[in-house]
Amino acid sequence: MSLLVVGSVAFDAIETPFGKTDKIIGGAATYISLASSYFTKKVNLVAVVGGDFPKTDIAMLQKHGVDTTGLQVKENEKSFFWSGRYHNDMNSRDTLVTELNVLGTFDPIVPEAYQSCQYLMLGNLAPSVQSTVIERMAKRPKLIVMDTMNFWMDIAMDDLKKTLSMVDVLSINDEEARQLSGDYSLVKAAKKIMAMGPKVLIIKKGEHGALLFNHEQVFFAPALPLEEVYDPTGAGDTFAGGFIGYLAHTNDISFDNMKRAIIYGSAMASFCVEKFGCERITNLHKKELEARVQEFVDLVQFEITLEA
Ligand code: AMP
Repeated sequence: MSLLVVGSVAFDAIETPFGKTDKIIGGAATYISLASSYFTKKVNLVAVVGGDFPKTDIAMLQKHGVDTTGLQVKENEKSFFWSGRYHNDMNSRDTLVTELNVLGTFDPIVPEAYQSCQYLMLGNLAPSVQSTVIERMAKRPKLIVMDTMNFWMDIAMDDLKKTLSMVDVLSINDEEARQLSGDYSLVKAAKKIMAMGPKVLIIKKGEHGALLFNHEQVFFAPALPLEEVYDPTGAGDTFAGGFIGYLAHTNDISFDNMKRAIIYGSAMASFCVEKFGCERITNLHKKELEARVQEFVDLVQFEITLEA
């Protein structure tokens, strides 16, 4: 099934305890498109960049089968720029710079050829732009998944609540879930957030895995214990790309299949953090992915005999 991905395509500058990068390509939609391209060859991108964005990187996305007809290039403007510094634990980071540039006036045009997409992934972006994309789809997609971050909660909470009321699945991290709900308990937070619209909620907990909620059930996927984590940037988006890519590939949106999808998402994310930026997920083999999913299975599988 075809997938429409919307989100930032960006320049990032990253500092981790392992090193520092100058401007490298990043952005939520970049990570999502790349990750989902390992599952479906029908990835369609709606995003915007400035004239400073390298054509070679657009070609790299195309090489992964990503349709970039919906990628607007504003020749006389600058691409979105984000810079962040990770703390020693690698689970928390400070945003140093957010320059919206082209994103500040982004009008998301959905090409005619994308109108039949059945899966829609709203990557991190202004919530008003995310809801505009939903409104511009001739037919509501079968599944709408959304990601967001604290930045938008701070400056656009009303817009965010409107978008939340229109989506099926929300994917956020634990800190964001607490900020959005005002509750410290993630179980209470999940109930409050699902009352805002999404029927399914994913709460990512970095190296501590991810929780998948619907109104009746909870499922937990671990993160793979890795020896080296170089750069967690984009791990959440890569996770989301693996999640929705797997769902689009299998065309099954049951809760049981979502459990498998968050394992695939977690496996994709475990590759992302192994190198800076999106380098690792641009060079991945399907066999490596399957082997890693097997590692997840081995990690959590055990036999137990319960006494009466
Ligand atoms: P993650 O590490 O999964 O939270 O995603 C990091 C990516 O999100 C980076 O590549 C940034 O370019 C992008 N990003 C950071 N802040 C924003 C924002 N306010 N809006 C859209 N994308 C953002």
